[in-house]
Amino acid sequence: MPITCVVGILWGDEGKGKVIDFLAAETDFIVRYGGGHNAGHTLVLPSGKLVLNLVPSGIVHAHTVNVIGNGVVVDPIHLCAEIDKLRERGLEVELGRNLLVSERAHVILEAHRRQDQWAENLRGSGKIGTTGRGIGPAYSDRCSRVGLRVGDLLRKGRLEQTLHVLAQQKNSWFAAAGMPPLDVTTMARELGAAGDKLRAGIADTGAVLRAAHGAGKRILLEGAQGCLLDLEHGTYPFVTSSHASTGGAFSGTGLPPHAMRVIGIAKAYATRVGEGPFPTELKDDLGNRLRTAGNEYGSATGRPRRCGWFDTVAVRYSSAVSGANELVLTNLDVLRGFSPLRIGVAYRLPDGRRTTDLPAFELEGVVPEFVDLPGFDQDLRAVREFEALPPKAQAYVQALEQHTGLPIRTISVGPERKQLILR
Ligand code: GDP
Repeated sequence: MPITCVVGILWGDEGKGKVIDFLAAETDFIVRYGGGHNAGHTLVLPSGKLVLNLVPSGIVHAHTVNVIGNGVVVDPIHLCAEIDKLRERGLEVELGRNLLVSERAHVILEAHRRQDQWAENLRGSGKIGTTGRGIGPAYSDRCSRVGLRVGDLLRKGRLEQTLHVLAQQKNSWFAAAGMPPLDVTTMARELGAAGDKLRAGIADTGAVLRAAHGAGKRILLEGAQGCLLDLEHGTYPFVTSSHASTGGAFSGTGLPPHAMRVIGIAKAYATRVGEGPFPTELKDDLGNRLRTAGNEYGSATGRPRRCGWFDTVAVRYSSAVSGANELVLTNLDVLRGFSPLRIGVAYRLPDGRRTTDLPAFELEGVVPEFVDLPGFDQDLRAVREFEALPPKAQAYVQALEQHTGLPIRTISVGPERKQLILR
């Protein structure tokens, strides 16, 4: 049984939550492999809107097992609160049965949040635009081998010992920055309490997933953020601190590299939250119109998203890096009333050369080259068949297929589960 991986093709917020929710009906295990509670998936369920930060989107389907993989960094206090919120919404969350957390996943601490906010303030005009939730520093400590793992929450001796070592390192630094020292006793008590709450769900999830794969279970890997925010392959340094692209799906779950179906999720236009290069960005009124039409505000932070035209240079690059064999196109309905519809097909580099490859440097200085197509005026939200789309919308989708070289078989025309066109 193949493993399916769903990845965001640009900078996240492509509507992965909705697509995963749709695919979950045919899936046994849904696994998050990277990022932290900086991510947010929005689902529009019959009961209303639901935003998930850490818990995989399959939690709304009774039959799925949802796994927070070892590649995720977990804020245990936030996770407990998220579980409580889901239960208040009437969803069944039973740790150990339909929600598992990797014992190898690293823990986000108060120290990481402080460090994150402090570092972002120091950067001044060079801000990366992090959410300030401690995710980057938690990953740094994982690399520095001073991190705390979720399994440590169940081992009181180890928990305190690790916190002491960490506090020794950080407190001299916090003192220099004019911040109070870390209170190890309080931290150990709060984290231990969170560990007790999560205990039934803390497991060797890599072993669980390898056994499930061996038994022919259907596994869906859920990417957070998007390929262009990948630490290695994204628009560095304006990237996230984990491997958001498909590469992270193996290291972040403990599944070996089996054949994988990779579905890239792309919006019918482009958006980006926070700082960093964005070649096809619309900095004018048209960009504001697109933001309003698409309700482009971050689901985890409420921050307004920057909006621009579809960029086939960036999409082809990300699809190649992630191994996407197909694209799901979301938010086509949002483009109603915009004409012409512009598609970025190449960049002019600062030295005058033309390229169709995404450069690693000086992306800020490129000038995109567009092809223009006529727009459509019809409301697409009730359309369920490709042939029933207005011819100009069909032509736009076909042009995207031609310029990206990827088939688009699934098109989303609204936030709700049923607002999908399957070709
Ligand atoms: P994710 O992190 O990739 O899951 O994306 P987000 O949840 O942050 O953002 C996607 C937003 O777009 C959510 O508010 C969805 O409800 C909404 N959405 C998803 N698909 C569509 C669509 O086809 N059309 C419209 N108008 N909204 C959509």
